Amino acid sequence: MNDLLPIEFPEIAAQRPTIIAGPCSAETEEQVLATARALAADGIRIFRAGVWKPRTKPGGFEGVGIEALAWLRRVKRETGMYVATEVATAEHAAAALDAGIDLLWLGARTTANPFAVQEVADALRGHDLPVLVKNPVSPDLELWIGALERLRNAGIRRLGAVHRGFSSLDRGIYRNQPQWSIPIELHRRLPHLTIFCDPSHIGGRRELIAPLSQQAMDLGFDGLIVESHCAPESAWSDKEQQITPATLAALRRSLVIRRSDEATESLHALRREIDKCDDELLELLARRMRIARDIGRYKKEHAMPVLQAERYNDLLDRRAAQACDLGMERDFIRTLLQAIHEESVRQQMHVLGE
Ligand code: PEP
Ligand code: MN
Repeated sequence: MNDLLPIEFPEIAAQRPTIIAGPCSAETEEQVLATARALAADGIRIFRAGVWKPRTKPGGFEGVGIEALAWLRRVKRETGMYVATEVATAEHAAAALDAGIDLLWLGARTTANPFAVQEVADALRGHDLPVLVKNPVSPDLELWIGALERLRNAGIRRLGAVHRGFSSLDRGIYRNQPQWSIPIELHRRLPHLTIFCDPSHIGGRRELIAPLSQQAMDLGFDGLIVESHCAPESAWSDKEQQITPATLAALRRSLVIRRSDEATESLHALRREIDKCDDELLELLARRMRIARDIGRYKKEHAMPVLQAERYNDLLDRRAAQACDLGMERDFIRTLLQAIHEESVRQQMHVLGE
């Protein structure tokens, strides 16, 4: 995955963020064209519309299907925009390729199914077009990377990922929990991968789209894929989370894009301080482990067991309370102490086995 290429199109300046916008679903030729014309007039260069819609339950609007591909071709012809749609089967992929669709994406429900991903990957083999992979519905980074690898193995090098949030029982204010640490870890694992954020599906509500977009920019995402509809309140799917092209234009104007090479001297100074803290933390941990091994030797000489549950519980409770006083989360400190304790026990067991 070291040879991935950026998702770039000729004549579109490679600047952050790359924006893909358009309705959740292609509903009618008029709706598609009206939305596309308004977005194009605002300078949007990549148009999205779902032609086949995977629905959680039967009976919802499942997309117009192949007929709508002709509408996307018309968008391309009349506005000069690049066009994108979701594919979930080999037939979808073949039809989209035939219609000259410029960019494809795999939806969250498809990414969760390796059989479906492989089927689409096989159908795309030998075709050079960019493909985006939305995160699977569940917070499973390996499954997400696995889908990307299947496409890479089929020869797709212009690969991207879309962070659209994760399904959860306690969803809080979001339709899908952002769990930002997952796309951040994806970026650490695959630094050449282009990563988009889909604030529409994370938020599920119009008013969350702008703050989520800003957060994505602050975290260094490359692009945004936003659901935009000429008349959101009458959309046939996802109507709560679609915004008009005019609202999208205002959102774009409001985004603050911080460049990573703008790090000032004071930021460097703060980072040096953090590095110093980390050095001290590691030395302290090493000292703690040395003491743990000494305790191990003592326990060995006195034939005592390694684990004293009472002492451990007491330590966790006391430190959790102390951490709260110091302005940290109880859960954070418990997780940290548990990890440290696990390593101490491992080192003591080692001493006992010597
Ligand atoms: C969509 O983009 O309209 C869509 C169905 O998204 P997801 O696969 O993220 O649910
Ligand atoms: Mn949608």
